[in-house]
Amino acid sequence: MPVRLHNTYSRQLEDFTPLDPVGQRVKMYTCGPTVYNHAHIGNFRAYVFEDLLQRHLEARGYAVERVMNLTDVDDKTIRGARTAGRRLADFTQVYKDAFFTDLETLRIKPAQHFPAATEPRYIERMIAMIAQLIAADIAYQAEDRSVYFRLSKFPDYGKLAHLNLDELRPSGRVASDEYEKENIGDFALWKAWDDADGDVRWDSPWGPGRPGWHIECSAMATAILGPEIDIHCGGVDNIFPHHEAEIAQSECCTGKKFVRYWLHNAHLMVEGQKMSKSLGNFYTLRDLLGKGFTGREIRYALLTVNYRLPLNFTIAGLEAARAALARIDEWVRRISDFGSQMSDTNAASDLPGEFATRHESFFQALDDDLNIAGAMGQLFDLIRESNSALDHGDLTSAHAAKLLAHWESINAVLALEPGILAVPAEIAALVEKRQQARADKDWKASDQLRDEVAALGWTVKDTKDGPKLSPTAR
Ligand code: AMP
Ligand code: ZN
Repeated sequence: MPVRLHNTYSRQLEDFTPLDPVGQRVKMYTCGPTVYNHAHIGNFRAYVFEDLLQRHLEARGYAVERVMNLTDVDDKTIRGARTAGRRLADFTQVYKDAFFTDLETLRIKPAQHFPAATEPRYIERMIAMIAQLIAADIAYQAEDRSVYFRLSKFPDYGKLAHLNLDELRPSGRVASDEYEKENIGDFALWKAWDDADGDVRWDSPWGPGRPGWHIECSAMATAILGPEIDIHCGGVDNIFPHHEAEIAQSECCTGKKFVRYWLHNAHLMVEGQKMSKSLGNFYTLRDLLGKGFTGREIRYALLTVNYRLPLNFTIAGLEAARAALARIDEWVRRISDFGSQMSDTNAASDLPGEFATRHESFFQALDDDLNIAGAMGQLFDLIRESNSALDHGDLTSAHAAKLLAHWESINAVLALEPGILAVPAEIAALVEKRQQARADKDWKASDQLRDEVAALGWTVKDTKDGPKLSPTAR
């Protein structure tokens, strides 16, 4: 079964095929943080969902090239720096550093590229794109000296958000980076400098000023990934106007279809409202770590609700995450201990079919538009059923080692591992052979097999409970 994803553009589930089906390379762009404050965990819901998407695509054999931008100049960052009385770059650096620490705490895989909007090469590209749009009469400089995108030149504007522009009354122009659908209008590409901007200014053919938020993403995405991108993600609040504007700008510049699959996560909610800075109902990661929760508990709570469903944030939800992780940890410890004993001699039989099926069903659930709730259901069924089989003495230690290998591949997607080392199947097989040799009193073969295991970096110790395996200390 192919991976199927819900495309906001078509509002349909679509089979996923990347632009490069042979090389299986996937180009993915994810709108990153506006670094004017500590990201709140609503923002991290978006990044955890994107992490799950990347990890699952990798599990299915794709090589994902991911870009996450840092918005380090826009209306909010300039206002923040001014209020703090600091230079913009110094002000945003604090929140960039904090953001990278938070990504690590939440075990989010770093993107290959973290472009920042103020890097000279991207500012140059933004200016070049705006110049191209002006040359094509798609953009114009207004009497306020700012440059605007002429909406009437891009009939597809509104298609991502499924707006009927004929029913909306155009409001002329909008200078703000964020605006409501009711005020639809020509949006700013370049904002002419004014006093409130202080020393934040770049020279351009239209005079000093700074880029609008939307052109930043178009420039960084196409500079790094090229004119055509496989997957573009963000929270649903980004659909309009931000992503709508990204499409208009990019496609008018490149003449190519900008994005093949648009994916948007629903919001993290608090008592029925979106968690947001402006409502003041937010928790940062630091707030929750300060309450004694761990990064992996917070990751679990954000990860395990399907991304297109609103997630209601509660402290009780974090406590439930803690309990669920304790169950997983206990199971991993159990199969790990049992699997490393290798006490059976008749252990070569396959893992009972129902367990292999659960493992495959976990991934199949994720193929279905990242149905993580379904996938976790399969994992917990696997845990319950294999615990019961262990209780009844129905599993061999070789079975346990194979279960552990299944867990390893599941954990490559979930990243919830507490840090227990699994015995690779290859090593387990050699140890089994060695046990057979010992049972046959073939000491020469037994010693040879021990050496083979040692050459692969593992030490076998014979105990009264059978052989114990540990990675050789280096
Ligand atoms: P911002 O820093 O506001 O540009 O947001 C960064 C990312 O977080 C964007 O993809 C937003 O759509 C997303 N986001 C913001 N608030 C929430 C929320 N409460 N729940 C989920 N995602 C959010
Ligand atoms: Zn963006």
